[in-house]
Amino acid sequence: MNPKQAYYEACAASICEALKKRRMEGYYCKTAAEAKDLALSFVQSGDTVSFGGSMTLSESGLLDALRGNKEIRLLDRSQASSPAEIEEIYAAAFRADAYFMSTNAITLSGELVNIDGNGNRVAAFIWGPKQVILLVGMNKVCPTLEDACRRARQIAAPPNCVRLNRQTPCAATGLCKDCYGDDCICSQTVITRRSGVIGRIKVILIGEALGY
Ligand code: SF4
Repeated sequence: MNPKQAYYEACAASICEALKKRRMEGYYCKTAAEAKDLALSFVQSGDTVSFGGSMTLSESGLLDALRGNKEIRLLDRSQASSPAEIEEIYAAAFRADAYFMSTNAITLSGELVNIDGNGNRVAAFIWGPKQVILLVGMNKVCPTLEDACRRARQIAAPPNCVRLNRQTPCAATGLCKDCYGDDCICSQTVITRRSGVIGRIKVILIGEALGY
């Protein structure tokens, strides 16, 4: 086996064990294609499904698969025709059967760190949807919680600001300057230590670099 893949598998085994203690489920897939199939297996015909903004969901092909699935009701804000409709989609997501997202960082001991500007993504992660399924490239694994918080702010947020066309110091320079302006995407930092509902949060680790 190639050493990188062997290393990923060893890390993933530690994380999955740690997630169990934290009342979450952990899985490991070598490829994004396998992860996409596993993620879709958690969705039943007739389910209401939603998702948070994520490059990983796009890059893995999951978003296209959800949009092409006629057997589910997909709450997709890209289809909304007004800000009011987007707000309705955010609210309806709390009643979804499944919510898909990634994470900004995960530690080897299973803590998840997420930064959000609007808050809808972390809100649905914390409470509401019956299950939350995370697709996570192994590039997001950090040794400690401190490293994970740093990753979320210093590595994940700047390219997300560029993607979202935000006028922030990090988008202009690549460095976080702890801004507070209108375009800042760092309003909430959520550290998930455990799941209140056993098994509600499912983390699919992927042996590839995905997302930011
Ligand atoms: S606080 Fe501002 S500068 Fe720092 S990462 Fe967030 S948006 Fe960028």
